[in-house]
Amino acid sequence: MSFEFSAQNSKLFNGLTLVAHRPTIMKFGGTSVEDATAFERVARVVSSHQNSRPVVIVSAMSRVTDTLLNAVQIAAEGASEEAAHTLEANWTRHLAVAENLLSADNKDAAAAAIDGARREIPALLASVATHAMPLRVLQDVVVAYGERLSAMVLAAVLRECGLPAQYVDARRCIITDARHGSAAPLFEDTTTRTRREIEPLLQSSKIPVLGGFIAATADGATTTLGRGGSDYSAAIIGTALGAREIQIWTDVTGVLTADPRVVPEACTVARLSYDEAAELAYFGAKVLHPKTIQPAVEQNIPVRICNSRAPDEFGTLVDAVNEATPRTVKSIAHKTGVTILRINSARMLGAYGFLRALFEVFERHRTVVDVVTTSEVSVSLSLEDTSALPSILHELREIGTVEVEPNRAIVCVIGEGIRGTPGIAGEVFNTIRDINVSLISLGASSINLTFVVAEERAQEVVRRLHHTFFEREEDQRTRNTEHER
Ligand code: ADP
Ligand code: ASP
Ligand code: MG
Repeated sequence: MSFEFSAQNSKLFNGLTLVAHRPTIMKFGGTSVEDATAFERVARVVSSHQNSRPVVIVSAMSRVTDTLLNAVQIAAEGASEEAAHTLEANWTRHLAVAENLLSADNKDAAAAAIDGARREIPALLASVATHAMPLRVLQDVVVAYGERLSAMVLAAVLRECGLPAQYVDARRCIITDARHGSAAPLFEDTTTRTRREIEPLLQSSKIPVLGGFIAATADGATTTLGRGGSDYSAAIIGTALGAREIQIWTDVTGVLTADPRVVPEACTVARLSYDEAAELAYFGAKVLHPKTIQPAVEQNIPVRICNSRAPDEFGTLVDAVNEATPRTVKSIAHKTGVTILRINSARMLGAYGFLRALFEVFERHRTVVDVVTTSEVSVSLSLEDTSALPSILHELREIGTVEVEPNRAIVCVIGEGIRGTPGIAGEVFNTIRDINVSLISLGASSINLTFVVAEERAQEVVRRLHHTFFEREEDQRTRNTEHER
């Protein structure tokens, strides 16, 4: 068949060219940059994607964010010198990477950045006592050093490997509101600034390297996106640049059928819809930050979760395809540290405005409610963040009586197939029939069945459900067929 060059073909051709020119976002988590060997692995992965116009986003080296947050806490308790001292091991780890992998100018650049942090952070910690800056503002400034350093060191490592990498300060790209510690991006400003910073680099075939998690307000104050927020950074930058794919490189091969720390037999789920991935992340699958999916959905950008230790394995592809078969349940998520509130108000329930009044209390205290169920005279709901609980309880008690149940866990069984398959709930509850269950909810999108159990039973519940849905003989057969496809 001959290929006639028509206006339509030319349009198609331009479209294909454009896709080829769209960048690929490659985000590496803390465990993918834990030491020199891990940095080397990342360099190999980036190198093998050099022709996909990579934009690299990296988290702080593993545990660094924890130690920086801890140092701020110690300084806030009045011991700023001791706080600075706790960070020495961090600097040694960064320097070891530079010593092992870098030479000449690259080593000097990395060492200068590490020395800079080592000098500047003690001064910042000492300033906690003077209250010159509100603690949350200062905390973001200190904690941002983690991602700034790992990104500068990674850029140097990539250059050492012959790749044209260039460090870009993510605070010049992602612009947020001023909610320090869990800031929300302002997408218009972010898109303009990200394009301004990154596109010229891509045009000159450079590989931009940015720290995840960190951002800034329009006035230039440093902010952070919430714990685990580097995945979100990858999605924000990917959306701003119209990426062809957002890759999340971590220490496991994709999204698994359950948390592998609880179920060692858990295996990779080859494909998830955006909705399935969003629900899994929201209900505790730490492999993906809960806010990652939303920006990708808006532009229909596929998200792929891959293993930096096994880069040839395909991992999990998350996209718009709703694949309900061959398995009904795709994964089981769980989240501990949940508190249940039961509000009883025989007088008010059913009265106009009751639910609004109730939820306004949570809105006023900026507290997210996860699961909600109602009965004739009571509303039960679950919270993860209990920092404002005393004030919330005070206000709720004006509406009705309130019981508090701490130390609960949410378990969530997810799969597009749940929507059309009768009997799933029966199978779930039969598997755990001797365990007390509350707050049962079939998610609004009907792709998840969610319920609450006592925290100390959560792992057992997840293991038993995993056995029921993934480890029985017929499931093994299905899995083998899936592999063969
Ligand atoms: P990174 O440092 O790459 O951001 P995270 O620690 O944030 O990595 O996320 C990866 C971890 O998420 C895994 O090591 C695993 O322990 C945990 N996890 C929890 N639930 C799941 C799941 N369903 N699939 C894969 N990993 C999961
Ligand atoms: N370094 C940050 C954290 O530990 C962000 C991330 O790793 O995604 O929370
Ligand atoms: Mg993470």
